[in-house]
Amino acid sequence: TDSDTADEAVRTTCDDATICKRFATSKGYWKDSCLQYFVRNVGERKAPEINRGYYARVQGVNLLLDAFLKKTQCLCQVINLGAGLDTTFWRLKEENLLPRKFFEVDFPTVVARKIHYIKTKPPLSKPIIDEHSSDTLLLEPHALDSDRYCIIGADLRDVSGLDEKLKKFQLDPELPTLLLSECVLVYMTPAQSSSLIRWAAETFHTAMFINYEQVNMSDRFGQVMVENLQRRQCSLAGVEACQSLDSQRERFLKTGWENAEALDMMTVYSVLPQEDVARIERLEFLDEKELLQQLLQHYCICWATKDKLSLGLSQVAF
Ligand code: SAM
Repeated sequence: TDSDTADEAVRTTCDDATICKRFATSKGYWKDSCLQYFVRNVGERKAPEINRGYYARVQGVNLLLDAFLKKTQCLCQVINLGAGLDTTFWRLKEENLLPRKFFEVDFPTVVARKIHYIKTKPPLSKPIIDEHSSDTLLLEPHALDSDRYCIIGADLRDVSGLDEKLKKFQLDPELPTLLLSECVLVYMTPAQSSSLIRWAAETFHTAMFINYEQVNMSDRFGQVMVENLQRRQCSLAGVEACQSLDSQRERFLKTGWENAEALDMMTVYSVLPQEDVARIERLEFLDEKELLQQLLQHYCICWATKDKLSLGLSQVAF
């Protein structure tokens, strides 16, 4: 059916993200020692503005995530929704910043692929085993569960199924929890993403949600981005919620979150540590400054908090 085709197209988007990150890290934009195990080859050259865009995305999200880990002193959980082949777990392990437990959720077929890579690549499996205390580690085709890392196959549009699976793997609603979605909600209808966001607000009393995705999609540049996604037959059900920074914030404020902020990536780029920005700007010559600006103006980071434990989560910012 059409919707199966659209879901399959969406599942392949995680490869794009990993391929682009692999290329950018090969150029020295940032370090990631694990990407090589998820995409073997560095692949074709990507335009400098794409590399800078990924740099801003990765640094921006990491900055907020690390600030949350600091506020909670790592006595928290992280749930990466639509994690794809993301490598954050291994970065946090390397940097000694692991939360109590790190959960990842994606479609079962994506999860099965990721588990296969983990099983067959010791640099990926060793950190998981090292953090695991008993000798029984759950390893199934669509789920891996250990003390500190858990990966679950589920459809994020089915919130009760998601809730059930996470609880089966010892999700603790009492722990401060960070939810992360990067380029995921855009593939779901506004009703579906709202119920996911509402579930998070209702499940955790102290939490932060970080969402990275498209914004300002109604102008001409935005329309071209939409057409590119359409050409790939991806579901674009969520574009409606990506109209403005206000609409990004609104959907959190309407679903039980206390605070919500949103910045477009041009702004994020200008508030990232400027010494490092100057370093990466020397890596490759960029001819089309305007193209970079347009690209960055069409993505945003939105973050929302609720803070019953008064950890100061509303102060987390750039
Ligand atoms: N977040 C990762 C990153 O930034 O590298 C992957 C981004 S990729 C563009 C989108 C991911 O969301 C894909 O892995 C896709 O399978 C997942 N996804 C989209 N809709 C989903 C749904 N309804 N249930 C589970 N996963 C979903």
